[in-house]
Amino acid sequence: MRIVREGRLFCEVELGALSVIMLSDGETVMALDCLRRPDGTTLAEAELAGADLKDGKLRLPVRAFLVRGPGGCLLIDAGAGDAWHKGLGQIGAAMAEAGTGPQEVTAIALTHTHIDHVSGLADRDGGLAFPNAERVYVATEEIMAFRAIPRMIPLHARLLPLEQGDGPIFGVTAINAPGHSPGHMAYLVEGRLLIWGDLVHNALQLARPEIGWKYDEDLARARASRLALMEQAVEAGWLVAGAHLPGPGIGRIDRVGEAYAYHPVTRGP
Ligand SMILES: [Zn+2]
Repeated sequence: MRIVREGRLFCEVELGALSVIMLSDGETVMALDCLRRPDGTTLAEAELAGADLKDGKLRLPVRAFLVRGPGGCLLIDAGAGDAWHKGLGQIGAAMAEAGTGPQEVTAIALTHTHIDHVSGLADRDGGLAFPNAERVYVATEEIMAFRAIPRMIPLHARLLPLEQGDGPIFGVTAINAPGHSPGHMAYLVEGRLLIWGDLVHNALQLARPEIGWKYDEDLARARASRLALMEQAVEAGWLVAGAHLPGPGIGRIDRVGEAYAYHPVTRGP
């Protein structure tokens, strides 16, 4: 697996008849106390060795993924739009750089309904960012949460519940990964690339997969999903992609003892 095209805000890989484009929404930083031990306590300074830091805080890139194929063009997550940290909301610019645009998106599937994944779907005034996306898939457990977000009201009529095993477009299968949120979903593309949403928020969680995130709604369940899917990815030889993985957000993982090593996809052979 190699990068076939890339730019400042995107990179593209090919999987059979499908192409997957990582779209960068930008980058922000989070407080060091977002990383948590399994018991919910914060990490000591020495334990932060190996964390991906920027300006003394935790670096947090935000990404979405576009899956293009004969069955349509599926956007997985939509970034933060103008609803969260400054510097985010660049999905539109990333698409333009990749030579595509919002009009091309025919369906949307969310990994979950947190602010940095849904807000890019609509602007403050309710204008739709992806007007041709007639289907918006959200895990059944999070339909209520989605409906409760005021700026998502114009999308209610397009909302479809999603369950494990469902395929939002041909070649893409939903896989339950609960814990970070009740209906957190990963998506397996062509049986080879697992887009795992928010299983990992910082590189330290690859080296120490027991480490959780302050905003994991159920730390223990999130940890169980993270460990199970990372192990499955290694066993099956799947590539992985994540909303907050270090650049370019697509790669493969190996197990090294209790830790996992992340090998980002490159242009090389
Ligand atoms: Zn997130």
